Parts: sequence; structure tokens; C-alpha cells
Amino acid sequence: MEISKENFVLQKVSIQSLICQNSWVKNESRTSFLKSCLKSNNPQGLLHFGMMQYFAGMKLEKGLFKIENAAKYEIKEASYILGLVLLCSGEENNVNRGMTLLTSIMKELKGKGIVKCRKKLRDFLHSIWFKNNLISNNKPHIACPEQHQGKILSNWDVGYYYDEDYEDNIVCDFCKCAREIELFYQMLPSVV
Ligand SMILES: [Zn+2]
Repeated sequence: MEISKENFVLQKVSIQSLICQNSWVKNESRTSFLKSCLKSNNPQGLLHFGMMQYFAGMKLEKGLFKIENAAKYEIKEASYILGLVLLCSGEENNVNRGMTLLTSIMKELKGKGIVKCRKKLRDFLHSIWFKNNLISNNKPHIACPEQHQGKILSNWDVGYYYDEDYEDNIVCDFCKCAREIELFYQMLPSVV
């Protein structure tokens, strides 16, 4: 299907700076522009509105659908967030998929890229009114078959989570995923 030139531009334009503006301040032209970008499947818009719906609006299916679509456009943060969300969705079928996705995206992103995703997710979660108690009540436990966790957990230093120069000394995929889950739950604001 051919898409119009306008739709093409709206799909490709970077809207990150607009998204980062204080969303509590109403600005009609900004809102209508962002909606047009969303209609044109702008991946940053899909990710942002998907996260809004999933974490703050409790429109779980619609939110997840948008985050999945953003991930299809190879937005790496979207794959990272999708992996985490699937792992923590409380649905058994999603757990394996989430783990596979999170493991492969972390391999691709490496240290700096992972830290960037963590910061983006943390800043987003702290900018909204978080309402998703499905996530809050379903912290998953990933059992490492090699039983590293006891040893590794005691060596984890929270300070390294947001340090772009940190050397990742965890090589086991299970433990890597368990660490991201631990961090994700530290970021989550409590549901009021
Ligand atoms: Zn392990």
C-alpha cells in the first residue's frame, strides 16, 4: 500500500523532544500533531502512547499492541520494554517470549545501550501517574539453572545500573534477565 508523502514524513519525524515536554501542560497544537504522528505509525509516538496506555491508562491490550508495533520498527528501547513487560505480565505464555526478547536485545545493545534504555524507562515511569497494579503484583522470579544468583546478587551494586561505563560481569542470560527485573521493580512508583 502506498502511503502519502505527509504520512511518510509524520512517520519518520523525530518527536522525542515534543514527547519529553511536560505533558501536564495542555497545548492543543502539540497534542494534535502528536496524534497525527501516531496515526501515521511514528514508532516513537507508538512507544510513548503505548507506554502511557499500558502503565498509566490500564488499557493493557491497546498499550501492548502499540509497544509491539514500535518494536517492529526496530526501536531498541521498545524491544527492551516489551521484553520486560512480557516477563512481568503474569501470563505464563508471555514469560518465555519476554525472556528471549530481552536476552537478545541486551546482547545487541551492550552496556551503554542498556543503560540508556533503563534511564528512559525510569524517567518515563517517574513522569506519569502509574496505575498498573497487574505489574506491581506480579514480580516474576527467574530461577537460574546454574544457581548463580545467591553469589551474584550479593555482588550487585545499584550504583552501576545507571553508569554508562560500567563493566558488566554477569554473563549468564538468566541472571541478566533477573537483574533487569530487579531494577524494573525498583523503578516502579507505588500504585495509589
Ligand atoms: Zn545465572
